[in-house]
Amino acid sequence: MCGKLVVNTGSMFSGKTTELLRQGKRHVLAKQKVLYIKPDVDTRYSRNEIVSHTGDYTKAMILSSDEMICDIQEVNNADVILVDEVQFFETGMAIQLNELVNDGKIVYVSGLDLDFKGKPFLIVALLMAYADVVNKFKAVCNDCGSDAHISALNELQNERVTLGAGDKYKPLCRCCYDNHLFNIEIQKLKMEVLGNEIY
Ligand code: ADP
Ligand code: MG
Ligand code: ZN
Repeated sequence: MCGKLVVNTGSMFSGKTTELLRQGKRHVLAKQKVLYIKPDVDTRYSRNEIVSHTGDYTKAMILSSDEMICDIQEVNNADVILVDEVQFFETGMAIQLNELVNDGKIVYVSGLDLDFKGKPFLIVALLMAYADVVNKFKAVCNDCGSDAHISALNELQNERVTLGAGDKYKPLCRCCYDNHLFNIEIQKLKMEVLGNEIY
């Protein structure tokens, strides 16, 4: 069998997991050996299931971010491998997944293209370069209803990865993201001023 790599990417709520589950179901119907994988850090809805924001779910193998995927028996036995939240894996996983594709596996991945600051996740950028097909999805901007470009964090934060969904993140278009950054700066200034008054 000739391998294939398909990348589903875009902001949070853009439909990446829904699409991954749909893609996997088609291969189950085709009676191929399907293996779903997710990173162990993604514990939001379930530890050992991939769950979409619409409530669809499927069982998945949990791997740590630096796992040597090519050494895993279930991976070698599978015809089709589907990985959700792929941005949480180390960059080397992109090279390993591409090797599996070169060995004839069909691989689907879903993951964020950009972090909440607008910086690309390198692993997803690499996978997009290796891919046969890239599906770039758009959520609906939380503030104006246009196509969303980025998942903005609702709170002041410096960590690159903060687990959460609608409670923490909101999809925004480029214009509303600009306004959001402006509001964050105002909040920071207000906090500085208040801080000076209190102390
Ligand atoms: P992703 O994996 O990209 O975060 P999911 O496939 O889990 O997305 O969920 C997509 C679903 O999220 C949509 O079908 C819709 O029902 C829901 N949703 C909630 N908020 C939004 C939004 N702002 N834009 C688009 N879809 C949204
Ligand atoms: Mg998802
Ligand atoms: Zn907007």
